[in-house]
Amino acid sequence: MQLRYACAHTGAEYVLEQAWLQASLPRCPLHPQGGCGFARHGTYSRVSPPGTLVARWYCPTGRRTFSLLPDCLAARLTGTLAEVEAVVRAAEQAPSLEAACAALRLDIELPGALRWVGRRVRAVHASLHLLRGLLPERCGGCAATLAAFGERLGVAEVLVALRGIAEPWLRDLPKPLGFRPRRESGGGRRGARQHWVGADPPGAPA
Ligand SMILES: [Zn+2]
Repeated sequence: MQLRYACAHTGAEYVLEQAWLQASLPRCPLHPQGGCGFARHGTYSRVSPPGTLVARWYCPTGRRTFSLLPDCLAARLTGTLAEVEAVVRAAEQAPSLEAACAALRLDIELPGALRWVGRRVRAVHASLHLLRGLLPERCGGCAATLAAFGERLGVAEVLVALRGIAEPWLRDLPKPLGFRPRRESGGGRRGARQHWVGADPPGAPA
């Protein structure tokens, strides 16, 4: 299970400072009273940025692992949220997804590039769409785009900012912003809670 590690590092800073060493999870999320054998459980590595490690804990009673994902990293998608944001913003500004792919100069054939960009755009816009309903006072009536959210929230990096602003709902929001389990396709808080699963996948390229 992924949990938020609130930190202001960029991906590069996170690696340079080995910020996973400072990540702290003092109590088991399942057994805050203790006595379950909860303990630090090493790290797992992610492909990008190179050298990235993510701190992990394990509860033997609940047979669950917990990892603290820093705000700079995309959830269940390779790389950083800033990288995802750059792609989605480029797509928002391009006249078409094809044009966005050409501008991004992805090192893959067009059909693959369309899938790659389209997946990111759909995932991010789905989160923004949900957040308009969850945060009606801050985001209500806002177009479900990063450009519109950036203007409304007054931030340059919307996705990183939303890790903090939307923290209570991260379990219910899809990747790469939120931590909704991958088998959870229907959405909704209740479903997400029922489907908490054990091990976190390492930063699988997707
Ligand atoms: Zn526990």
